Amino acid sequence: MSDDFYMNFHVIISGLDSISARRWMNEKIYSLACKKMGPDGRELEEWDDNTRIPFIDGGTEGFLGNARFIYPHKTPCFDCVDLFPAQQHVYQMCTIVNTPRQPEHCVAWAKDHAWDTEAPFGKNEVGDAVHVDGDNHEHIQWILQKAIEHADRFNIPKDKITYKLAQGVVKNIIPAIAATNAIIAATCANEAFKAVTEASRNLDNYIYYWGSQGVGTNTQKILKKDDCSVCTMKGFNVKVTKEATLTQFLDLLVKDERLKGMTGPVLTRCDINNQRTYLCYQSQPRFQKKYDHLLPKPMEELVEEGDIVIVTSNTLKHPVTIKINWEK
Ligand SMILES: [Zn+2]
Repeated sequence: MSDDFYMNFHVIISGLDSISARRWMNEKIYSLACKKMGPDGRELEEWDDNTRIPFIDGGTEGFLGNARFIYPHKTPCFDCVDLFPAQQHVYQMCTIVNTPRQPEHCVAWAKDHAWDTEAPFGKNEVGDAVHVDGDNHEHIQWILQKAIEHADRFNIPKDKITYKLAQGVVKNIIPAIAATNAIIAATCANEAFKAVTEASRNLDNYIYYWGSQGVGTNTQKILKKDDCSVCTMKGFNVKVTKEATLTQFLDLLVKDERLKGMTGPVLTRCDINNQRTYLCYQSQPRFQKKYDHLLPKPMEELVEEGDIVIVTSNTLKHPVTIKINWEK
């Protein structure tokens, strides 16, 4: 989607199911924010409020939920603090091997112990068992079978060990609780209402809800992280033709006064899944060679319109975010 699509909205609510998608959205919204322009065409210090889109993020995990109100370059951003790490169930190896008590322990044993020792689906180039793929039917079937055998040895009821349970443990699936989702959705809607009507002040700036041990909510003011790469990012649009090579694009950047004649740049492309790939790595010769083959390639093979490319260099104080626009 082009930036124009996102600029259509007065407020954006994210109820996304992955942290990387939320981070991508956060970065996108920050990259859209621009400073006001003076009559002489130079950037002023003041932000242009028409380009700052309020961002409301809500998330739930079982009986826990949270919501935040983010206003670009005023409040902390999503990346300033990682408040809601995915809950990962960790089972002690000695428990799952010697004294499993629950069906989940047996699945964890099959996944973490039996899988690694038997490598039923082969090994990778460094000699480790290939990774378990939670969406691969044969992988789950194998783990299920092993878990049942393990349960048998410790008199754990086998009927509790189902395909669904095995896949749930492997993929660390946390059940969604309708009540938690409803509470967080209502909180987000309330914040959106306030943001567009100015009927009341917005949340300052984080609220969390818990419903596992008692029921309650609390609000908290999160502080900005001084070195947050999103909050400190300075961004601008760069127009380049689709046919221009990466070398030509680099020349364009070096000449750009906003980058102040940077040397040894490292360019990273950030795609919609927040996957980062290097386009060039000129700060260190041994890494540089690895990406030199990309230099003669046309830009249209390397990036898409609207992509964010992060530029870092020893001569820059902060990473600079560049949005790619095709020159027509
Ligand atoms: Zn931040």
